[in-house]
Amino acid sequence: MVLAQLGGSISRAIQQMSNATIIDEKVLNECLNEITRALLQSDVQFKLVRDMQTNIKKIVNLDDLAAGHNKRKIIQQAIFNELCKILDPGKPAFTPKKGKTSVVMFVGLQGSGKTTTCTKYAYYHQKKGWKPALVCADTFRAGAFDQLKQNATKAKIPFYGSYMESDPVKIAVEGVERFKKENCDLIIVDTSGRHKQEAALFEEMRQVSEATKPDLVIFVMDSSIGQAAFDQAQAFKQSVAVGAVIVTKMDGHAKGGGALSAVAATKSPVIFIGTGEHMDEFEVFDVKPFVSRLLG
Ligand code: GDP
Repeated sequence: MVLAQLGGSISRAIQQMSNATIIDEKVLNECLNEITRALLQSDVQFKLVRDMQTNIKKIVNLDDLAAGHNKRKIIQQAIFNELCKILDPGKPAFTPKKGKTSVVMFVGLQGSGKTTTCTKYAYYHQKKGWKPALVCADTFRAGAFDQLKQNATKAKIPFYGSYMESDPVKIAVEGVERFKKENCDLIIVDTSGRHKQEAALFEEMRQVSEATKPDLVIFVMDSSIGQAAFDQAQAFKQSVAVGAVIVTKMDGHAKGGGALSAVAATKSPVIFIGTGEHMDEFEVFDVKPFVSRLLG
């Protein structure tokens, strides 16, 4: 790993520290405080930053630093590794298998990019030879079905929804049944969101999940939600078995530090990121570039 991989403020902090003649606890603390500030600015949850600081202090041996070992390298490595560790919940997400039916339910607040991400996810798999299908179980937002229909039509992906039916559970079940009969291997259920976390939303998610028995529930979060990420992710996890996270709008200014909170709250990995409004602006999540950006 090279210094350039670490972001501006972090590399500056390490640079300043390595310029100091004596590396004592005070100098290391100053450096860690600088890094803490940068991570908080990137929306990493305060508790995670504090725990990371404690871990780094344990890992970084001041005697080694004082003895003139490559200080920069030791600290860089420790920070980088700690952040990567936070993003690794220790077990991979359920991976659907081509040719075998899987139901994947998407959850997230309104505006998080859920509907857009459903199509991106479907399109990504379709390009690889899968037979995906989209079910619109969002009966709350006027225009939700039209949006999904438009996206699906553009991508030539079969879809199911209703302008009349107001029960999201009924639509979800009908859609899943229909596409199972049609031998689709990836049935994607888009659900309602609300502007804020509220009991009715979580109850609805619980019911849709219970009725459709998804193999995977994906929590979609907007990279710019900042410190709200932990509570939001946790609230969804408490009502449905969230098993993966997708972070959207990574093409914007936000560094996406909330993703660390979402992983911590759901104990699930980030699997993809959204990098634009278009269908193909979607990437498999890669820990190292993400952490580098976070530190910038
Ligand atoms: P939903 O309410 O959660 O279903 O959100 P939508 O899918 O309707 O998305 C809300 C807005 O965010 C729309 O204008 C999308 O085009 C936009 N959006 C979604 N994902 C991304 C992304 O990765 N990057 C950018 N720039 N915009 C996105």
